[in-house]
Amino acid sequence: MKTINVKRTASKGVVMGKAYVVKRPDLSADRSMISDSMVEKEVARYEAAIEAAKADLSVLAETNAIFGAHLELVQDPTLYDGVIDKIKDEKKNAELSLEETVDMFAAIFADMDDEYMRERGSDMKDVGKRLMCKLKGVEDSALSGITEKVIVVAQDLAPSDTAVMNLEYVLGFITQEGGVTSHVSIMARNLNLPALVGVEGILEDVAMGDEIAMDAKNGTIIVNPDEAAKAEYAQKMEAFQKREKELAEISLLPAETPDGKTVELFANVGNIEDIKNALPHHIDGIGLFRTEFLYMENDHFPTEEEQFAVYKEAAELLEGKEVIIRTLDIGGDKELSYFDFGKEENPFLGYRAIRVCLDKEDVFKTQLRALLRAGAYGNVRIMYPMIISVEELDRANELLAICKEELRAEGKEFNEDIVVGMMIETPASVVLADDFASRVGFFSIGTNDLTQYTLAVDRGNKKISHMYNSFHPAVLRNIKRTIDAGHAAGIKVGMCGEFASDPKALPVLLGFGLDEFSMSAGAVSEVKAELRSTSYAEAQELADKVAKCAYVKEIDALLEA
Ligand code: PEP
Ligand code: MG
Repeated sequence: MKTINVKRTASKGVVMGKAYVVKRPDLSADRSMISDSMVEKEVARYEAAIEAAKADLSVLAETNAIFGAHLELVQDPTLYDGVIDKIKDEKKNAELSLEETVDMFAAIFADMDDEYMRERGSDMKDVGKRLMCKLKGVEDSALSGITEKVIVVAQDLAPSDTAVMNLEYVLGFITQEGGVTSHVSIMARNLNLPALVGVEGILEDVAMGDEIAMDAKNGTIIVNPDEAAKAEYAQKMEAFQKREKELAEISLLPAETPDGKTVELFANVGNIEDIKNALPHHIDGIGLFRTEFLYMENDHFPTEEEQFAVYKEAAELLEGKEVIIRTLDIGGDKELSYFDFGKEENPFLGYRAIRVCLDKEDVFKTQLRALLRAGAYGNVRIMYPMIISVEELDRANELLAICKEELRAEGKEFNEDIVVGMMIETPASVVLADDFASRVGFFSIGTNDLTQYTLAVDRGNKKISHMYNSFHPAVLRNIKRTIDAGHAAGIKVGMCGEFASDPKALPVLLGFGLDEFSMSAGAVSEVKAELRSTSYAEAQELADKVAKCAYVKEIDALLEA
Protein backbone atom coordinates (compact mmCIF):
# COMPACT_ATOMS: atom_id res chain seq x y z
CA MET A 1 0.00 0.00 0.00
CA LYS A 2 1.28 3.43 -0.93
CA THR A 3 -0.29 6.81 -0.19
CA ILE A 4 0.22 9.78 -2.50
CA ASN A 5 -0.83 13.31 -1.59
CA VAL A 6 -1.81 15.68 -4.37
CA LYS A 7 -2.16 19.42 -4.21
CA ARG A 8 -4.37 20.03 -7.20
CA THR A 9 -7.92 18.76 -7.43
CA ALA A 10 -9.37 18.95 -10.91
CA SER A 11 -12.78 17.58 -10.10
CA LYS A 12 -13.92 16.31 -6.72
CA GLY A 13 -15.27 12.91 -5.76
CA VAL A 14 -14.25 9.68 -4.04
CA VAL A 15 -13.86 6.36 -5.90
CA MET A 16 -12.17 2.97 -5.76
CA GLY A 17 -11.34 0.80 -8.72
CA LYS A 18 -8.71 -0.86 -10.87
CA ALA A 19 -6.10 1.24 -12.62
CA TYR A 20 -6.12 1.36 -16.39
CA VAL A 21 -2.69 2.68 -17.29
CA VAL A 22 -2.68 4.26 -20.73
CA LYS A 23 0.16 3.18 -23.02
CA ARG A 24 0.56 5.30 -26.12
CA PRO A 25 2.04 4.27 -29.49
CA ASP A 26 5.60 5.48 -30.07
CA LEU A 27 5.15 8.79 -31.81
CA SER A 28 8.78 9.90 -31.78
CA ALA A 29 10.15 11.01 -35.12
CA ASP A 30 12.84 9.27 -37.14
CA ARG A 31 15.79 11.68 -37.11
CA SER A 32 17.22 10.95 -40.56
CA MET A 33 17.70 13.75 -43.08
CA ILE A 34 16.24 13.83 -46.59
CA SER A 35 17.78 14.62 -49.98
CA ASP A 36 16.63 17.43 -52.28
CA SER A 37 14.71 15.01 -54.44
CA MET A 38 12.60 13.91 -51.46
CA VAL A 39 11.43 17.38 -50.46
CA GLU A 40 8.35 17.39 -52.65
CA LYS A 41 7.28 13.95 -51.45
CA GLU A 42 7.62 14.95 -47.77
CA VAL A 43 5.61 18.12 -48.34
CA ALA A 44 2.91 16.06 -50.03
CA ARG A 45 2.91 13.53 -47.15
CA TYR A 46 2.50 16.36 -44.65
CA GLU A 47 -0.32 17.91 -46.64
CA ALA A 48 -2.07 14.53 -46.87
CA ALA A 49 -1.75 14.17 -43.09
CA ILE A 50 -3.41 17.58 -42.64
CA GLU A 51 -6.27 16.56 -44.93
CA ALA A 52 -6.77 13.29 -43.02
CA ALA A 53 -6.67 15.08 -39.65
CA LYS A 54 -9.09 17.72 -40.94
CA ALA A 55 -11.53 15.00 -41.99
CA ASP A 56 -11.48 13.46 -38.48
CA LEU A 57 -11.75 16.80 -36.74
CA SER A 58 -14.64 18.05 -38.87
CA VAL A 59 -16.72 15.12 -37.64
CA LEU A 60 -15.59 15.51 -34.02
CA ALA A 61 -16.18 19.30 -34.05
CA GLU A 62 -19.89 18.72 -34.54
CA THR A 63 -20.23 17.40 -31.01
CA ASN A 64 -17.44 19.14 -29.12
CA ALA A 65 -16.30 22.75 -29.45
CA ILE A 66 -12.75 21.88 -28.42
CA PHE A 67 -12.31 20.05 -31.72
CA GLY A 68 -13.48 23.15 -33.53
CA ALA A 69 -10.45 24.89 -32.06
CA HIS A 70 -8.25 21.95 -33.12
CA LEU A 71 -9.67 22.11 -36.63
CA GLU A 72 -8.51 25.71 -36.83
CA LEU A 73 -5.15 24.89 -35.32
CA VAL A 74 -4.46 22.05 -37.75
CA GLN A 75 -4.95 24.51 -40.62
CA ASP A 76 -3.04 27.31 -38.95
CA PRO A 77 -0.70 28.90 -41.50
CA THR A 78 2.04 29.51 -38.90
CA LEU A 79 2.15 25.82 -38.01
CA TYR A 80 2.03 24.87 -41.70
CA ASP A 81 4.82 27.28 -42.66
CA GLY A 82 6.93 26.17 -39.71
CA VAL A 83 6.82 22.53 -40.80
CA ILE A 84 7.24 23.18 -44.53
CA ASP A 85 10.21 25.52 -43.95
CA LYS A 86 11.97 22.79 -42.00
CA ILE A 87 11.36 20.22 -44.75
CA LYS A 88 12.55 22.58 -47.48
CA ASP A 89 15.34 24.53 -45.78
CA GLU A 90 16.66 22.12 -43.16
CA LYS A 91 16.00 18.94 -45.15
CA LYS A 92 14.28 17.23 -42.27
CA ASN A 93 11.66 14.56 -42.88
CA ALA A 94 8.00 15.45 -42.31
CA GLU A 95 7.77 13.72 -38.89
CA LEU A 96 10.87 15.42 -37.53
CA SER A 97 9.81 18.81 -38.93
CA LEU A 98 6.40 18.42 -37.30
CA GLU A 99 7.87 17.32 -33.97
CA GLU A 100 10.28 20.25 -33.79
CA THR A 101 7.71 22.83 -34.86
CA VAL A 102 5.07 21.63 -32.39
CA ASP A 103 7.64 21.48 -29.58
CA MET A 104 8.68 25.04 -30.34
CA PHE A 105 5.11 26.40 -30.23
CA ALA A 106 4.22 24.31 -27.17
CA ALA A 107 7.30 25.73 -25.40
CA ILE A 108 6.19 29.30 -26.15
CA PHE A 109 2.81 28.58 -24.54
CA ALA A 110 4.45 26.74 -21.64
CA ASP A 111 6.55 29.80 -20.90
CA MET A 112 3.59 32.06 -20.37
CA ASP A 113 2.78 33.14 -16.85
CA ASP A 114 -0.90 32.51 -17.15
CA GLU A 115 -1.97 28.96 -16.40
CA TYR A 116 -4.84 29.12 -18.86
CA MET A 117 -2.43 30.03 -21.67
CA ARG A 118 0.03 27.36 -20.61
CA GLU A 119 -2.72 24.82 -21.04
CA ARG A 120 -3.30 25.99 -24.61
CA GLY A 121 0.09 24.44 -25.30
CA SER A 122 -1.57 21.06 -24.71
CA ASP A 123 -4.00 21.78 -27.56
CA MET A 124 -1.02 22.32 -29.81
CA LYS A 125 0.53 19.03 -28.67
CA ASP A 126 -2.76 17.21 -29.18
CA VAL A 127 -3.01 18.45 -32.75
CA GLY A 128 0.65 17.50 -33.27
CA LYS A 129 -0.05 13.93 -32.07
CA ARG A 130 -3.00 13.60 -34.41
CA LEU A 131 -0.87 14.70 -37.36
CA MET A 132 1.94 12.39 -36.28
CA CYS A 133 -0.40 9.37 -36.16
CA LYS A 134 -1.50 10.19 -39.70
CA LEU A 135 2.11 10.53 -40.90
CA LYS A 136 3.16 7.27 -39.25
CA GLY A 137 -0.02 5.45 -40.23
CA VAL A 138 -0.75 4.36 -36.63
CA GLU A 139 -3.89 4.55 -34.52
CA ASP A 140 -3.75 5.79 -30.94
CA SER A 141 -6.05 3.06 -29.69
CA ALA A 142 -4.86 2.81 -26.06
CA LEU A 143 -8.13 4.10 -24.69
CA SER A 144 -10.50 2.11 -26.85
CA GLY A 145 -9.50 -1.04 -24.92
CA ILE A 146 -11.46 -0.13 -21.77
CA THR A 147 -14.11 -2.80 -21.20
CA GLU A 148 -14.62 -2.77 -17.42
CA LYS A 149 -14.93 -0.11 -14.71
CA VAL A 150 -11.54 1.54 -14.21
CA ILE A 151 -9.70 4.62 -13.05
CA VAL A 152 -7.76 5.92 -16.05
CA VAL A 153 -4.13 6.75 -15.26
CA ALA A 154 -2.20 8.56 -17.98
CA GLN A 155 0.62 10.93 -18.75
CA ASP A 156 -1.99 13.36 -20.00
CA LEU A 157 -5.46 13.10 -21.49
CA ALA A 158 -6.63 15.12 -24.43
CA PRO A 159 -10.17 16.01 -25.45
CA SER A 160 -9.82 13.65 -28.41
CA ASP A 161 -9.35 10.79 -25.92
CA THR A 162 -12.92 11.10 -24.65
CA ALA A 163 -14.17 10.38 -28.14
CA VAL A 164 -12.63 6.89 -28.12
CA MET A 165 -13.13 6.09 -24.43
CA ASN A 166 -16.18 4.17 -23.28
CA LEU A 167 -17.15 6.68 -20.58
CA GLU A 168 -19.65 4.29 -19.06
CA TYR A 169 -16.67 2.40 -17.63
CA VAL A 170 -14.60 5.37 -16.48
CA LEU A 171 -14.70 5.99 -12.72
CA GLY A 172 -12.12 8.78 -12.63
CA PHE A 173 -8.89 10.17 -14.01
CA ILE A 174 -5.39 10.63 -12.68
CA THR A 175 -2.83 12.36 -14.88
CA GLN A 176 0.81 13.13 -14.48
CA GLU A 177 0.51 16.40 -16.39
CA GLY A 178 -2.15 19.10 -16.54
CA GLY A 179 -3.42 21.88 -14.34
CA VAL A 180 -6.84 22.71 -12.96
CA THR A 181 -7.76 24.64 -16.11
CA SER A 182 -6.49 21.92 -18.47
CA HIS A 183 -8.88 20.10 -20.72
CA VAL A 184 -8.77 16.92 -18.68
CA SER A 185 -9.91 18.94 -15.66
CA ILE A 186 -12.66 20.71 -17.56
CA MET A 187 -13.73 17.42 -19.09
CA ALA A 188 -13.81 15.68 -15.70
CA ARG A 189 -15.90 18.45 -14.17
CA ASN A 190 -18.31 18.34 -17.11
CA LEU A 191 -18.64 14.57 -16.76
CA ASN A 192 -18.87 14.88 -12.98
CA LEU A 193 -15.99 12.42 -12.56
CA PRO A 194 -13.34 12.70 -9.85
CA ALA A 195 -9.94 13.70 -11.20
CA LEU A 196 -6.51 14.55 -9.90
CA VAL A 197 -4.03 16.22 -12.24
CA GLY A 198 -0.36 17.13 -12.15
CA VAL A 199 0.42 14.01 -10.06
CA GLU A 200 4.15 13.68 -10.47
CA GLY A 201 5.50 10.14 -10.77
CA ILE A 202 2.08 8.49 -10.88
CA LEU A 203 3.06 6.33 -13.87
CA GLU A 204 5.93 4.83 -11.85
CA ASP A 205 3.77 4.29 -8.79
CA VAL A 206 0.87 2.56 -10.51
CA ALA A 207 0.77 -0.53 -12.76
CA MET A 208 -2.08 -1.81 -14.92
CA GLY A 209 -4.66 -3.54 -12.74
CA ASP A 210 -3.48 -2.11 -9.39
CA GLU A 211 -6.27 -1.27 -6.98
CA ILE A 212 -6.68 2.47 -6.43
CA ALA A 213 -8.64 4.39 -3.83
CA MET A 214 -8.81 8.11 -4.58
CA ASP A 215 -10.25 11.04 -2.72
CA ALA A 216 -10.15 13.87 -5.21
CA LYS A 217 -11.70 16.29 -2.75
CA ASN A 218 -8.86 16.08 -0.27
CA GLY A 219 -6.22 15.04 -2.81
CA THR A 220 -5.20 11.54 -1.71
CA ILE A 221 -4.51 8.44 -3.76
CA ILE A 222 -3.88 5.04 -2.17
CA VAL A 223 -2.33 2.39 -4.41
CA ASN A 224 -3.29 -1.17 -3.44
CA PRO A 225 -5.11 -0.17 -0.23
CA ASP A 226 -5.27 -2.68 2.64
CA GLU A 227 -8.58 -3.80 4.12
CA ALA A 228 -8.69 -0.97 6.66
CA ALA A 229 -8.05 1.67 3.97
CA LYS A 230 -10.68 0.08 1.72
CA ALA A 231 -13.24 0.25 4.53
CA GLU A 232 -12.31 3.87 5.21
CA TYR A 233 -12.70 4.81 1.53
CA ALA A 234 -15.99 2.96 1.24
CA GLN A 235 -17.26 5.15 4.05
CA LYS A 236 -15.83 8.28 2.46
CA MET A 237 -17.53 7.39 -0.81
CA GLU A 238 -20.85 7.00 0.88
CA ALA A 239 -20.44 10.27 2.79
CA PHE A 240 -19.42 12.11 -0.37
CA GLN A 241 -22.37 10.80 -2.36
CA LYS A 242 -24.75 11.67 0.45
CA ARG A 243 -23.31 15.19 0.61
CA GLU A 244 -23.58 15.63 -3.18
CA LYS A 245 -27.22 14.64 -3.05
CA GLU A 246 -27.85 17.07 -0.21
CA LEU A 247 -26.06 19.85 -2.07
CA ALA A 248 -28.05 19.19 -5.24
CA GLU A 249 -31.22 19.60 -3.21
CA ILE A 250 -29.90 22.68 -1.43
CA SER A 251 -29.00 24.26 -4.77
CA LEU A 252 -32.72 24.45 -5.55
CA LEU A 253 -33.49 26.37 -2.35
CA PRO A 254 -33.21 30.15 -1.86
CA ALA A 255 -29.92 31.69 -0.68
CA GLU A 256 -31.37 32.73 2.64
CA THR A 257 -30.42 32.55 6.32
CA PRO A 258 -32.78 30.89 8.84
CA ASP A 259 -33.75 34.39 10.06
CA GLY A 260 -34.74 35.55 6.60
CA LYS A 261 -31.75 37.50 5.21
CA THR A 262 -31.30 36.80 1.50
CA VAL A 263 -28.18 37.37 -0.59
CA GLU A 264 -27.30 36.67 -4.22
CA LEU A 265 -24.97 33.80 -5.10
CA PHE A 266 -23.27 34.48 -8.44
CA ALA A 267 -20.65 32.67 -10.50
CA ASN A 268 -17.26 33.82 -11.83
CA VAL A 269 -16.59 32.75 -15.42
CA GLY A 270 -14.01 33.18 -18.15
CA ASN A 271 -15.92 32.03 -21.23
CA ILE A 272 -19.22 30.67 -22.54
CA GLU A 273 -18.30 27.09 -21.62
CA ASP A 274 -17.93 28.17 -17.98
CA ILE A 275 -21.38 29.77 -18.09
CA LYS A 276 -22.91 26.57 -19.43
CA ASN A 277 -21.24 24.63 -16.63
CA ALA A 278 -22.37 27.17 -14.02
CA LEU A 279 -26.08 27.20 -14.90
CA PRO A 280 -26.87 23.74 -13.45
CA HIS A 281 -25.69 25.07 -10.06
CA HIS A 282 -28.76 27.35 -9.97
CA ILE A 283 -26.74 30.55 -9.73
CA ASP A 284 -28.49 33.91 -9.40
CA GLY A 285 -26.28 35.57 -12.02
CA ILE A 286 -22.73 36.09 -13.23
CA GLY A 287 -20.75 38.35 -10.89
CA LEU A 288 -17.53 38.41 -12.89
CA PHE A 289 -16.98 37.55 -16.53
CA ARG A 290 -13.19 37.82 -16.93
CA THR A 291 -12.98 38.95 -20.57
CA GLU A 292 -9.17 38.80 -20.71
CA PHE A 293 -9.34 35.13 -21.79
CA LEU A 294 -11.11 36.20 -24.95
CA TYR A 295 -8.10 38.41 -25.69
CA MET A 296 -5.46 35.91 -24.55
CA GLU A 297 -6.86 33.04 -26.61
CA ASN A 298 -6.71 35.10 -29.78
CA ASP A 299 -3.83 36.11 -32.00
CA HIS A 300 -5.28 39.62 -32.42
CA PHE A 301 -7.35 42.07 -30.38
CA PRO A 302 -10.82 40.53 -30.79
CA THR A 303 -13.03 42.56 -33.10
CA GLU A 304 -16.30 44.17 -32.06
CA GLU A 305 -18.26 41.45 -33.87
CA GLU A 306 -16.23 38.65 -32.27
CA GLN A 307 -16.83 40.12 -28.81
CA PHE A 308 -20.45 40.98 -29.45
CA ALA A 309 -21.21 37.34 -30.36
CA VAL A 310 -19.75 36.13 -27.05
CA TYR A 311 -21.36 38.76 -24.80
CA LYS A 312 -24.71 38.34 -26.56
CA GLU A 313 -24.61 34.59 -26.03
CA ALA A 314 -23.75 35.15 -22.37
CA ALA A 315 -26.68 37.54 -21.96
CA GLU A 316 -29.06 35.13 -23.64
CA LEU A 317 -27.89 32.14 -21.62
CA LEU A 318 -28.64 34.01 -18.39
CA GLU A 319 -32.23 34.73 -19.50
CA GLY A 320 -32.58 38.11 -17.83
CA LYS A 321 -30.37 37.43 -14.83
CA GLU A 322 -27.45 39.79 -14.28
CA VAL A 323 -24.24 39.23 -16.25
CA ILE A 324 -21.49 41.49 -14.93
CA ILE A 325 -18.86 41.71 -17.64
CA ARG A 326 -15.51 43.16 -16.63
CA THR A 327 -13.71 45.25 -19.20
CA LEU A 328 -10.27 44.08 -20.22
CA ASP A 329 -8.00 43.42 -17.23
CA ILE A 330 -4.69 42.69 -18.90
CA GLY A 331 -1.10 43.37 -17.83
CA GLY A 332 0.31 42.45 -14.42
CA ASP A 333 0.78 38.69 -14.88
CA LYS A 334 -1.51 38.46 -17.92
CA GLU A 335 0.17 38.93 -21.28
CA LEU A 336 -0.94 38.99 -24.89
CA SER A 337 1.04 37.21 -27.60
CA TYR A 338 0.28 40.02 -30.05
CA PHE A 339 0.98 43.04 -27.87
CA ASP A 340 4.22 43.99 -26.17
CA PHE A 341 3.70 45.47 -22.69
CA GLY A 342 7.42 46.09 -22.34
CA LYS A 343 9.47 45.06 -19.36
CA GLU A 344 8.37 46.59 -16.06
CA GLU A 345 9.99 46.60 -12.64
CA ASN A 346 6.63 46.23 -10.88
CA PRO A 347 4.07 44.87 -13.33
CA PHE A 348 1.31 44.67 -10.69
CA LEU A 349 1.82 48.38 -10.01
CA GLY A 350 2.27 49.08 -13.67
CA TYR A 351 0.58 49.24 -17.01
CA ARG A 352 -2.49 47.08 -16.47
CA ALA A 353 -6.30 46.88 -16.58
CA ILE A 354 -8.11 50.23 -16.90
CA ARG A 355 -4.76 51.99 -17.37
CA VAL A 356 -4.17 50.07 -20.60
CA CYS A 357 -7.75 50.69 -21.73
CA LEU A 358 -7.62 54.44 -21.13
CA ASP A 359 -4.33 54.54 -23.02
CA LYS A 360 -5.50 52.37 -25.91
CA GLU A 361 -8.84 54.04 -26.43
CA ASP A 362 -9.62 52.19 -29.66
CA VAL A 363 -9.17 48.82 -28.00
CA PHE A 364 -11.38 49.96 -25.11
CA LYS A 365 -14.06 51.47 -27.34
CA THR A 366 -14.29 48.27 -29.38
CA GLN A 367 -15.10 46.38 -26.21
CA LEU A 368 -17.52 49.01 -24.88
CA ARG A 369 -19.43 49.04 -28.19
CA ALA A 370 -19.71 45.24 -28.13
CA LEU A 371 -20.94 45.36 -24.51
CA LEU A 372 -23.50 48.09 -25.21
CA ARG A 373 -24.86 46.12 -28.16
CA ALA A 374 -25.00 42.86 -26.22
CA GLY A 375 -26.90 44.79 -23.55
CA ALA A 376 -29.90 44.78 -25.88
CA TYR A 377 -30.13 41.00 -25.46
CA GLY A 378 -30.21 40.60 -21.69
CA ASN A 379 -29.17 42.00 -18.34
CA VAL A 380 -25.57 42.92 -19.16
CA ARG A 381 -23.71 45.18 -16.74
CA ILE A 382 -20.30 46.74 -17.36
CA MET A 383 -17.59 46.68 -14.68
CA TYR A 384 -14.29 48.59 -14.74
CA PRO A 385 -11.27 47.01 -12.98
CA MET A 386 -8.44 48.59 -10.94
CA ILE A 387 -9.88 52.11 -10.69
CA ILE A 388 -7.88 54.44 -8.45
CA SER A 389 -9.34 57.87 -9.21
CA VAL A 390 -12.60 59.58 -10.04
CA GLU A 391 -10.86 60.99 -13.13
CA GLU A 392 -10.34 57.46 -14.45
CA LEU A 393 -13.97 56.57 -13.85
CA ASP A 394 -15.13 59.79 -15.54
CA ARG A 395 -12.89 59.21 -18.55
CA ALA A 396 -14.11 55.61 -18.95
CA ASN A 397 -17.69 56.88 -18.80
CA GLU A 398 -16.91 59.64 -21.33
CA LEU A 399 -15.67 57.01 -23.75
CA LEU A 400 -18.80 54.96 -23.06
CA ALA A 401 -20.94 58.02 -23.87
CA ILE A 402 -19.01 58.51 -27.14
CA CYS A 403 -19.65 54.85 -28.03
CA LYS A 404 -23.36 55.31 -27.37
CA GLU A 405 -23.42 58.38 -29.62
CA GLU A 406 -21.65 56.48 -32.40
CA LEU A 407 -24.02 53.53 -32.15
CA ARG A 408 -27.01 55.88 -32.15
CA ALA A 409 -25.70 57.60 -35.29
CA GLU A 410 -25.14 54.22 -36.94
CA GLY A 411 -28.67 53.15 -36.04
CA LYS A 412 -27.40 50.09 -34.18
CA GLU A 413 -29.42 48.49 -31.42
CA PHE A 414 -27.92 48.83 -27.91
CA ASN A 415 -28.85 49.34 -24.26
CA GLU A 416 -29.00 53.07 -23.62
CA ASP A 417 -29.37 52.53 -19.83
CA ILE A 418 -26.72 49.89 -19.31
CA VAL A 419 -25.70 49.72 -15.63
CA VAL A 420 -22.03 50.54 -15.01
CA GLY A 421 -20.14 49.53 -11.89
CA MET A 422 -16.58 49.22 -10.72
CA MET A 423 -14.33 46.86 -8.88
CA ILE A 424 -12.97 47.89 -5.53
CA GLU A 425 -9.50 46.38 -5.52
CA THR A 426 -7.19 49.26 -4.63
CA PRO A 427 -6.88 51.06 -1.28
CA ALA A 428 -7.44 54.33 -3.18
CA SER A 429 -10.86 53.15 -4.29
CA VAL A 430 -11.75 52.26 -0.69
CA VAL A 431 -10.67 55.66 0.62
CA LEU A 432 -12.74 57.35 -2.09
CA ALA A 433 -15.60 54.83 -1.86
CA ASP A 434 -18.16 57.54 -0.97
CA ASP A 435 -17.16 59.56 -4.02
CA PHE A 436 -17.34 56.53 -6.27
CA ALA A 437 -20.59 55.20 -4.81
CA SER A 438 -22.54 58.24 -5.97
CA ARG A 439 -21.18 57.78 -9.50
CA VAL A 440 -21.67 54.06 -10.23
CA GLY A 441 -24.47 51.50 -10.26
CA PHE A 442 -22.70 48.90 -8.10
CA PHE A 443 -19.44 47.90 -6.45
CA SER A 444 -17.76 44.50 -6.60
CA ILE A 445 -14.89 43.92 -4.20
CA GLY A 446 -11.93 42.15 -5.77
CA THR A 447 -10.28 40.75 -2.66
CA ASN A 448 -7.51 39.00 -4.60
CA ASP A 449 -6.04 42.36 -5.52
CA LEU A 450 -7.44 44.38 -2.61
CA THR A 451 -5.55 42.08 -0.24
CA GLN A 452 -2.30 42.38 -2.16
CA TYR A 453 -2.50 46.17 -2.48
CA THR A 454 -3.75 46.82 1.06
CA LEU A 455 -0.99 44.72 2.60
CA ALA A 456 1.67 45.36 -0.06
CA VAL A 457 2.03 41.58 -0.36
CA ASP A 458 2.44 40.17 -3.88
CA ARG A 459 -0.40 37.67 -4.41
CA GLY A 460 1.85 35.31 -6.37
CA ASN A 461 5.02 35.38 -4.25
CA LYS A 462 5.42 32.04 -2.44
CA LYS A 463 8.03 33.45 -0.05
CA ILE A 464 5.51 35.76 1.59
CA SER A 465 2.34 33.78 0.97
CA HIS A 466 1.86 33.37 4.74
CA MET A 467 1.42 37.16 4.89
CA TYR A 468 -1.22 37.20 2.19
CA ASN A 469 -4.26 37.12 4.43
CA SER A 470 -7.69 38.55 3.67
CA PHE A 471 -8.56 38.16 7.37
CA HIS A 472 -6.01 40.86 8.17
CA PRO A 473 -7.90 43.62 10.04
CA ALA A 474 -6.90 46.23 7.44
CA VAL A 475 -8.42 44.17 4.63
CA LEU A 476 -11.57 43.39 6.60
CA ARG A 477 -12.05 47.05 7.50
CA ASN A 478 -11.55 48.04 3.87
CA ILE A 479 -14.27 45.57 2.95
CA LYS A 480 -16.61 46.95 5.60
CA ARG A 481 -15.91 50.53 4.61
CA THR A 482 -16.73 49.72 0.98
CA ILE A 483 -20.00 48.02 1.89
CA ASP A 484 -21.03 50.91 4.17
CA ALA A 485 -20.22 53.50 1.50
CA GLY A 486 -22.13 51.55 -1.14
CA HIS A 487 -25.18 51.15 1.06
CA ALA A 488 -25.16 54.80 2.12
CA ALA A 489 -25.50 55.65 -1.58
CA GLY A 490 -28.11 52.94 -2.13
CA ILE A 491 -26.07 50.72 -4.45
CA LYS A 492 -25.44 46.99 -4.36
CA VAL A 493 -22.09 45.72 -3.11
CA GLY A 494 -20.80 42.35 -4.27
CA MET A 495 -17.55 40.48 -4.00
CA CYS A 496 -15.89 38.48 -6.76
CA GLY A 497 -12.50 37.69 -5.21
CA GLU A 498 -11.73 34.21 -3.84
CA PHE A 499 -12.63 35.41 -0.33
CA ALA A 500 -16.34 35.34 -1.30
CA SER A 501 -16.31 31.53 -1.25
CA ASP A 502 -14.30 31.10 1.95
CA PRO A 503 -16.69 29.40 4.41
CA LYS A 504 -14.85 30.97 7.36
CA ALA A 505 -15.40 34.45 5.90
CA LEU A 506 -19.09 33.93 5.25
CA PRO A 507 -20.51 35.06 8.63
CA VAL A 508 -18.30 38.16 8.65
CA LEU A 509 -19.19 39.19 5.09
CA LEU A 510 -22.84 38.47 5.74
CA GLY A 511 -22.68 40.48 8.96
CA PHE A 512 -21.04 43.39 7.14
CA GLY A 513 -24.02 43.32 4.78
CA LEU A 514 -22.47 42.06 1.54
CA ASP A 515 -25.28 41.72 -1.02
CA GLU A 516 -23.78 39.42 -3.61
CA PHE A 517 -21.17 36.67 -3.36
CA SER A 518 -19.56 35.63 -6.65
CA MET A 519 -17.34 32.54 -6.93
CA SER A 520 -16.47 29.54 -9.06
CA ALA A 521 -19.74 27.75 -9.76
CA GLY A 522 -18.64 24.54 -8.03
CA ALA A 523 -18.49 26.36 -4.69
CA VAL A 524 -22.00 27.86 -4.83
CA SER A 525 -23.95 25.00 -3.26
CA GLU A 526 -21.50 24.62 -0.35
CA VAL A 527 -21.74 28.34 0.37
CA LYS A 528 -25.51 28.19 0.09
CA ALA A 529 -25.60 25.32 2.57
CA GLU A 530 -23.43 27.30 4.97
CA LEU A 531 -25.56 30.41 4.55
CA ARG A 532 -28.77 28.50 5.20
CA SER A 533 -27.46 27.44 8.59
CA THR A 534 -25.99 30.82 9.62
CA SER A 535 -28.01 33.25 11.71
CA TYR A 536 -27.88 36.76 10.27
CA ALA A 537 -28.37 38.32 13.71
CA GLU A 538 -25.41 36.37 15.09
CA ALA A 539 -23.36 37.14 11.98
CA GLN A 540 -23.95 40.86 12.56
CA GLU A 541 -22.81 40.60 16.15
CA LEU A 542 -19.72 38.68 15.11
CA ALA A 543 -18.93 41.14 12.30
CA ASP A 544 -19.20 44.09 14.72
CA LYS A 545 -16.66 42.48 17.01
CA VAL A 546 -14.35 41.49 14.15
CA ALA A 547 -14.37 45.03 12.76
CA LYS A 548 -12.95 46.30 16.07
CA CYS A 549 -10.07 43.81 16.27
CA ALA A 550 -6.53 45.09 15.81
CA TYR A 551 -4.84 41.69 15.88
CA VAL A 552 -5.15 38.91 13.31
CA LYS A 553 -5.10 36.39 16.17
CA GLU A 554 -8.11 38.04 17.82
CA ILE A 555 -10.03 37.69 14.57
CA ASP A 556 -8.94 34.08 14.22
CA ALA A 557 -10.09 33.35 17.77
CA LEU A 558 -13.50 34.94 17.19
CA LEU A 559 -14.00 32.97 13.98
CA GLU A 560 -12.91 29.71 15.57
CA ALA A 561 -15.41 30.24 18.36
C1 PEP B 1 -9.69 40.25 -7.68
O1 PEP B 1 -8.68 40.96 -7.78
O2 PEP B 1 -10.18 39.89 -6.59
C2 PEP B 1 -10.38 39.79 -8.89
C3 PEP B 1 -11.54 39.16 -8.83
O3 PEP B 1 -9.75 40.00 -10.08
P1 PEP B 1 -8.57 39.06 -10.65
O4 PEP B 1 -8.43 37.89 -9.72
O5 PEP B 1 -8.99 38.70 -12.02
O6 PEP B 1 -7.42 40.01 -10.59
MG1 MG C 1 -8.18 41.85 -9.70
